[in-house]
Amino acid sequence: MTTRSTWLDLPADHPFGIANLPYGVFSTADGPGRHRLGVRIGDRVLDLGAAAEACGGTGDSPAVTEAFRSPTLNSLLALGRPGWTNARAWVTTALSDESLRSGIEPHLHDLDDVVLHLPVEIGDYVDFYASEDHASNVGQIFRPDNAALPPNWKHLPIGYHGRSGTVVVSGTDVVRPTGQRKGPKDPAPVFGPSIRLDIEAELGYVVGGSTAIGSRVSVDEAADHLFGVVLLNDWSARDLQAWEYVPLGPFLGKSFSTSISAWVTPLDALQTARVPLPGQSDPRVLPYLTGDAFGLDVHVEVRLNGSLVSRPEHAGMYWSPAQMLAHLTVNGASIRDGDLFGSGTISGPSRETRGSLLELTWNGAEPLTLDDGTTRGFLEDGDTVTMTAWAPGPDGARVGLGECTGTIRPAR
Ligand code: MN
Repeated sequence: MTTRSTWLDLPADHPFGIANLPYGVFSTADGPGRHRLGVRIGDRVLDLGAAAEACGGTGDSPAVTEAFRSPTLNSLLALGRPGWTNARAWVTTALSDESLRSGIEPHLHDLDDVVLHLPVEIGDYVDFYASEDHASNVGQIFRPDNAALPPNWKHLPIGYHGRSGTVVVSGTDVVRPTGQRKGPKDPAPVFGPSIRLDIEAELGYVVGGSTAIGSRVSVDEAADHLFGVVLLNDWSARDLQAWEYVPLGPFLGKSFSTSISAWVTPLDALQTARVPLPGQSDPRVLPYLTGDAFGLDVHVEVRLNGSLVSRPEHAGMYWSPAQMLAHLTVNGASIRDGDLFGSGTISGPSRETRGSLLELTWNGAEPLTLDDGTTRGFLEDGDTVTMTAWAPGPDGARVGLGECTGTIRPAR
């Protein structure tokens, strides 16, 4: 695959080059309340609404021009795959056709001069559990007397419905949650701030092309509804979770905050990163979960106060996002523009690829030592966790997936 080159002064292998073009929402100091759609190129942001206006619209796609004027990505998500293709083609031309440069260039802002906002008004939020190593590790830690994997795990992508209203953009502080916990030796539950606050390094998938109640999205149709990918940190209070989750699953241990990256990487920018799944031959999955169930070769890095603590590999995930979307809708549940679902913690077989502190420290028993010599079982107040990621792009370049960061503030 050969990519066009941009008229911007940008190295060909820049992680935010012309082959990437992630979408986000930003404001500038002279209009802090005016949220605008942007595309990142290099370390700059193109104001899409202003750029389209300067060019007299986005050609034969008036709906795209209209969507570019919106304060969130939802209008673009509503256009579905054909609109996404048109939008990306227009942006690519705008940033590569020298004849358009004089009209486009005034609408580029330095990243340092903008504030990034939540890019999507989140519809429904679901979190899955798609890493076999993660599910197996959690099973061993939480249910040591049972089989590591639940009996249904290889037959369906397990998930739970989360809280969309507390999905926040990267950079938003996370207040330590308070609630009930009951350790195995406690005679009764106690109330207070969580003492086992954790992370879950995940990818999130942003959904568009809404469907009607009663219809399904097949595995083969899923790519038409998967707009793009964000980095996602599913902050988790393990002590609250362990006490509350039987039998209905995570609730207050997860719902206080979920952070996502400000940049949504289009699925179109991850064509080179498509890989086969590791394998689902034993047992075979039911027919509705078969089809073009691609994996994504995304390399994640997790830093705690600057120390690299994990390098999860998304390519090892057992379930594909296409299968997760097919499963999510197989009962006739509709999808809305702006729905978000998480992959589940990305963990691999070796310790340095585990995507949660629960696994990295084996429930606190084997603390991590950070670069400053301090140790951590779980998160302390003031700790900052930052996820970054990249995927292989065309011509040997890397596609950057932005960052997802958050700092823990004391319980209130
Ligand atoms: Mn999770």
